Amino acid sequence: HLAVIESAEPSVKAFLKVSADQALEQADAFDAKSDEDKSQMPELAGVPIAIKDMIVTKGIETTAASKILEGWVPPYDATVIEKLKAAGMPLLGKTNLDEFAQGSSTEHSAYQTTHNPWDTERVPGGSGGGSAAAVAAFEAPLALGTDTGGSIRQPGSLTGTVGVKPTYGGVSRFGAIAMASSLDQIGPCSRTVLDSALLQEVIGGHDKRDSTSIPEGPRPMVAAAREGMKRDLKGLKVGLIKELGGEGFQPGVMARFNEGVKKLEEMGAEVIEVSLPHLPYSLGAYYIIMPSEVSSNLARYDGMRYGLRVMPPAGVPQTAANMMAYTREAGFGDEVKRRIILGTYALSAGYYDAWYGSAQKVRTLIIDDFKKAFEKVDVLVGPTSPVTAFKFGEKTEDPMAMYAIDITTIPANLAGVPAMSIPAGLSDDGLPVGFQFLAPQQRDEVMYKPAAALE
Ligand code: GLN
Repeated sequence: HLAVIESAEPSVKAFLKVSADQALEQADAFDAKSDEDKSQMPELAGVPIAIKDMIVTKGIETTAASKILEGWVPPYDATVIEKLKAAGMPLLGKTNLDEFAQGSSTEHSAYQTTHNPWDTERVPGGSGGGSAAAVAAFEAPLALGTDTGGSIRQPGSLTGTVGVKPTYGGVSRFGAIAMASSLDQIGPCSRTVLDSALLQEVIGGHDKRDSTSIPEGPRPMVAAAREGMKRDLKGLKVGLIKELGGEGFQPGVMARFNEGVKKLEEMGAEVIEVSLPHLPYSLGAYYIIMPSEVSSNLARYDGMRYGLRVMPPAGVPQTAANMMAYTREAGFGDEVKRRIILGTYALSAGYYDAWYGSAQKVRTLIIDDFKKAFEKVDVLVGPTSPVTAFKFGEKTEDPMAMYAIDITTIPANLAGVPAMSIPAGLSDDGLPVGFQFLAPQQRDEVMYKPAAALE
């Protein structure tokens, strides 16, 4: 994989940092183990993995693709990293993303633009475009991402790979750099559904260092994926989300999606249309709740504690407040600043009820929509992204156009339910299309079965 990285990186640019020396050391340590010891380890032991640079890694620079964290070398590992190391999985390096995971194209990285391996003139999606591109380009067999509003699933869709957002609280977020804490979740990127199931079982489970962690072990996802590979879905009730389609959805995306639905039926599943009436409001609710939490979480980057510090120029009073202002002005990019301003406004006295309060009420209605839908069906399905990979610069001038394509992935984050994207063939433009499965909270295994069957 290090050799593939060397040959692919000049055109893909998926990695911010390749930790070759550490990876080889970890691989050697695994090789040196006795057969007896190896047989006690998870199936993925010895398999290397790439890590989105939103997850902290001891001794390896972690920047969240922001200048404000440039040069920060974490003194500790995230829980998921500890688990990967214990499983004998070498870390290949840190992958590119939109700054602080804010974006849908990886163009908002402060360092570099990642190219889609299917067409290097196009984006790999975002924010986790680096992890998805690394897997799609065979630079890494597996990667970790973070998904606050689709950042694992949408890049999976645009690069023809598998991306999973586990149930909220199913994977520890200790050591994941916080974006919007009520929505953030770490999850797997891979080329097959079974690989994601194996990885989710390695990284999942309770962690007392994350107060939102569910006090329960990982679900039987590997068994469900293996069961799905038998391609028999008799008895499974699938709900087609009525609201995900129509205007803004490319015909080629809908065609591949509908073919997928037909295949599920051919394998014995019963498919019915289900309405989640408040889904169209999820974009509005997300783009209030998320920036509100972003504005609060990013307050910690003040020039005092981590990374960048910019002192005021001569003539400007050398106060702590001015140092913070100059540091944040220089350290954050435009998209991050936009969200801090939006969030600060939405949370300010006098506006709180009108904006944040209303958005939270809408969120509750969306959660109820999902509960009612899951009384009728086992899994819900829809396209992962309304569009295939777009060209660089196509949506950067118009933030609303970039936000609008998140409509398909955001509902799962608002409701805290697990969701995954799998490749569903190529659209008329020759680019990958993603098929999304959503399951009830804490029932992640329920989506792995039909996903493995359809793959
Ligand atoms: N596109 C979403 C956003 O810009 C995705 C965020 C994420 O999942 N990290 O907010």
